[in-house]
Amino acid sequence: MELNKLTLLESFTGLREKKFSSEELTRACFDNINKFDDQVKAFITLDKAGALAQAKAVDQKLKNDEGVSPLAGIPVAVKDLFCTAGLRTTGASKILENYVPPFDATAVKILKDNDAVILGKTNCDEFAMGGSTENSGFFPTHNPWDLERVPGGSSGGSAAAIAADMCIYSLGTDTGGSIRQPASYCSISGLKVSYGRVSRYGVMAMTSSLDTIGPFGKNVEDIALILKYLAGRDVKDSTTPDIEVDNYSEEIKKDIKGLKIGLPKEYFIEGMDEGVRQVVLEAAKKFEELGAEIVDISLPHSELAIATYYIIVPSEVSSNMARYDGIKYGLSKRGKDLLDIYLDSRAEGLGKEVKRRVMIGTYALSAGYYDAYYKKAMQTRTLVKRDFENAFEKVDVILTPVAPTPPFKLGENINDPLKMYLEDVFTTPASLAGICGLVVPAGFSNNLPVGIQLLGKRFDEKTVLRVGHQYQLATGWHKQKPVLK
Ligand code: GLN
Repeated sequence: MELNKLTLLESFTGLREKKFSSEELTRACFDNINKFDDQVKAFITLDKAGALAQAKAVDQKLKNDEGVSPLAGIPVAVKDLFCTAGLRTTGASKILENYVPPFDATAVKILKDNDAVILGKTNCDEFAMGGSTENSGFFPTHNPWDLERVPGGSSGGSAAAIAADMCIYSLGTDTGGSIRQPASYCSISGLKVSYGRVSRYGVMAMTSSLDTIGPFGKNVEDIALILKYLAGRDVKDSTTPDIEVDNYSEEIKKDIKGLKIGLPKEYFIEGMDEGVRQVVLEAAKKFEELGAEIVDISLPHSELAIATYYIIVPSEVSSNMARYDGIKYGLSKRGKDLLDIYLDSRAEGLGKEVKRRVMIGTYALSAGYYDAYYKKAMQTRTLVKRDFENAFEKVDVILTPVAPTPPFKLGENINDPLKMYLEDVFTTPASLAGICGLVVPAGFSNNLPVGIQLLGKRFDEKTVLRVGHQYQLATGWHKQKPVLK
């Protein structure tokens, strides 16, 4: 048995039945990392010593028949945007190349409190700005399904690590698609939670009014389990409301007979990949077979989402990036005066895309342009949000493509920011609306993975997870694996 290939629930059962130890499970993951991460490059930092020590501690607890959490002893990979006390955290930026945080992000603390085994920190686009993981300040990650292609981004390392069975599950962030698009490109399951569902304390901020953090898994059942732990109020993040956390693992068992699934006509655009379109329409048929009703709907302002998103994001980025000034932490160039320190540290430490967004954002917020850009964007954001509110009066869940194309080649879009931004056309509307979205594998186009996106009302994660799980019970796409040599 290749232990690294197990799901979270299989790992949990195996550990309880003492079929293998957490140490064996953890070593199996590191063996696979050793074998393949030279090619995939999913990790920036590994913590083998820490992970094995944690695994052995859990094994001891299991041996003593002490009660432990379902997450105990199970290897997880964490995007390098989450602060991990004592373990280097770079945000995939040169400016934080040697930064070791003194504290844990709340999500990391939850993992540690549940005795999870943290293997290391995964690669991403610098401070989560990008959709291919090519904007990492260190190196790009490769898609395990085709090493010449991108794994998606920005959480590309976390997605590739699962696809290549280097970990059992992982954490990522999603501001405009950074969990959903890599999940689709790597043929794994990934959940963008509703804005506020999971605490973001200790996770580097990109766009504070849109940022969310969430899990990737080998299937939806695993995601349902992880979410139960991650979700809820955190006094350290005032955007997390004190509303009930559902029992996702139970909710997903319900069938989907009579559920209404909307198919928005605006998400089947000219120029999109034909294979992607077919995969989504096939999935719609599957849902009908499972007893759901497919309803044609319209989200008329979706076409404004990209333009809106790419004003709001740089605006907030220009403010959030101000903290990387060469003074407080990270890279610091000693110039002749204060201004020189700022200029030199930021010039050397920040990458091209980050600088591009800081400049666009500063411009959009400047006196004289604020009304024309930022204020307009806030208004169109409301229109996009209202579209969803209207749609959810008619349907329970909305089915759409994740991205207009399957994974593209490394280097193909990197010098054309507009082309790269257009990849986000189907993921950014839900981000602007603050609603949740699940991606599950649903087929292939020219042998390249394609997922489907299931959007749900704000805080209605249970319904998208239920639809995704029922789909996985009826199909086998999530079980297909890439072959690495
Ligand atoms: N690709 C999008 C962007 O570049 C999404 C990033 C994200 O969700 N972090 O902004």
